[in-house]
Amino acid sequence: DTILVTGANGYIASWVVRRLLEKGYNVRGTVRKAEKSEYLKNYFESYVKQGRLEVVVVEDITKEGAFDEAVKGVHAIEHMASPVPVNDNGGDPEEFIRPAVDGTLGILKSALKNNSAIKRIVVTSSSAAVSTVTPEARTFSEVDWNELSINEIREQGRQAHPMTKYRASKTLAEKALWKFYEENVKKEGRVTWDVAALNPPFVYGPGIQEISSPSTLNATLKVWYDFVYSPSASSAKPKEAFELSNSWVDVRDLADAHVLALEKVEAGGERIIVTQGAYVWQEWLDIANALPSSLVEKSSSPLPKGFPEITAQPQSLTYKIRYDTAKKQRILGVKYRTKEETTRDTVEDFVSRGW
Ligand code: NDP
Repeated sequence: DTILVTGANGYIASWVVRRLLEKGYNVRGTVRKAEKSEYLKNYFESYVKQGRLEVVVVEDITKEGAFDEAVKGVHAIEHMASPVPVNDNGGDPEEFIRPAVDGTLGILKSALKNNSAIKRIVVTSSSAAVSTVTPEARTFSEVDWNELSINEIREQGRQAHPMTKYRASKTLAEKALWKFYEENVKKEGRVTWDVAALNPPFVYGPGIQEISSPSTLNATLKVWYDFVYSPSASSAKPKEAFELSNSWVDVRDLADAHVLALEKVEAGGERIIVTQGAYVWQEWLDIANALPSSLVEKSSSPLPKGFPEITAQPQSLTYKIRYDTAKKQRILGVKYRTKEETTRDTVEDFVSRGW
């Protein structure tokens, strides 16, 4: 089978492409510009030579019919291309929302129009479409929707925080997915494919995409680098930053989840939160500092220590945002890497880059 992966040069998508190829699938990846395909084609050179990976350019995913050609001949789709906040200086929220929503609808429309061999379309949504920041600690599940960010965008427009724009874009895109699926696929009963949404929280772990320096890391790995690996970036943060908590998943486990979401019949029609669990930032620093000295000594500067007093009494740590993992366990059932494993592998990766 051939799987279409959109935004194939991205952090998560590069691992999804790798896992798909390793499992024997053929892959067609899309990128926005031809030069973005060079690194990918080099990294997967042996697969390109075998004719198992091709990379095509879809310049503007918001254009009507943008994916019409790309969907031809594929058996399933992993839709991952969507704007992620990097530098936003008061831009129009639509710069996030349009590509997120129109990209998702575009892929569905092209699939409906041009291909009857597709069996499943997996859309990478986000926990951003599920949870809202609440004063009290809370556990969210797949029944929850982040309506708040949509309202905040209505009220604040350009002034909204970049993360609010991103969170609204992910919520609106996933809502558009389910609406389209209900109205055009389920009700009409005229197509053979179904859809699934995956809702990961913060994704960490080693990157295999094109990375030339720390400043070119994708957004979430850059945050991890700044907290856990870079003494200058880490020491510029206030103590409260290290007390912040959230939930996470290793990028390799998330890639496995993407493959399983194609394969498991039960994933059809479901949104599934994909997380390993919760953390407070200081935990990652403690774990990094406890790595074998033979590894840590190879980093170009000593690892930041943060504020170890935060985690001195583990029983008093509060994780503000947790997720119910029952559906993930039932349908995808994958074993997830621990913070220790992810930290070791990420530090090893940074060291191997000479950082
Ligand atoms: P990356 O920044 O590494 O990848 C983003 C991909 O989307 C790139 O291929 C990028 O292309 C493409 N893209 C960005 N903006 C646009 C646009 N306007 N039009 C078309 N393509 C665009 O990020 P991730 O790998 O982290 O993110 C991949 C997906 O996973 C996204 O949908 C994101 O929302 C989702 N996600 C990520 C999480 C995380 O913690 N990392 C958590 C939950 C969900 P280009 O290189 O050309 O910019």
